[in-house]
Amino acid sequence: MMEKRAKLKKVNPEITCGLCKGYLVEATTITECLHTFCRSCLVKFLLENNTCPRCGDLIHQSHPLNYISHDRTMQDIVYKLVPNLQENERKRQIEFYKKRGIQMPNGDAYEEDKKNMEKSPPKQVDNKDFHRLDEQVNICLECKEINTLKSLKRRILRLSSLATVTHLKKFVALKVFDTIDRYKDVDILCNEELLGKDHMLKFIIATRWRNTDGPLLLHYRRKMEL
Ligand SMILES: [Zn+2]
Ligand SMILES: [Zn+2]
Repeated sequence: MMEKRAKLKKVNPEITCGLCKGYLVEATTITECLHTFCRSCLVKFLLENNTCPRCGDLIHQSHPLNYISHDRTMQDIVYKLVPNLQENERKRQIEFYKKRGIQMPNGDAYEEDKKNMEKSPPKQVDNKDFHRLDEQVNICLECKEINTLKSLKRRILRLSSLATVTHLKKFVALKVFDTIDRYKDVDILCNEELLGKDHMLKFIIATRWRNTDGPLLLHYRRKMEL
């Protein structure tokens, strides 16, 4: 328990909004620099500014709001790490709309989130496979055969640096073949080089991605028999 609390303290800056200093609500990421804020905080800020509140990078001269996107992975992480936050946020929203007598938008989305939470009880935070408390890295997963294989809707992912190539294969298989079972049909490459299934992202970044501080660029393709 102590250890978990210490870890939460360590990841707090990652799951906190730099604008309101609270835990992220409707986590929204700037696609240019990958910094994340609450949706409402960021939108309010970008009505007056066109730079990232954290790193100061120019997002877009005139339409910065076109370069932000809902970060579901990040929001899931926040909800998994901070007990009761999701329920409290939902109550606050219901209250907000009730007071104004308007119908709640996205009701279904919240219901879906709630169901997902119920399906995965909080104790899974302890489950090693989730790796939500590990160091996180950003990767960009591009399709190598755009004519014959589905491209990912969401190419930029944020995940544990301890995730392995096999984890990525399973993710791609789920998105591309609609089943995790076909993960052995997926090849993952970095700089045209086929990656071994047990390689961790941390290792790949250290050994094959020296040139940039942007997201680690990886490609996937259907497995080729050698
Ligand atoms: Zn905020
Ligand atoms: Zn930034």
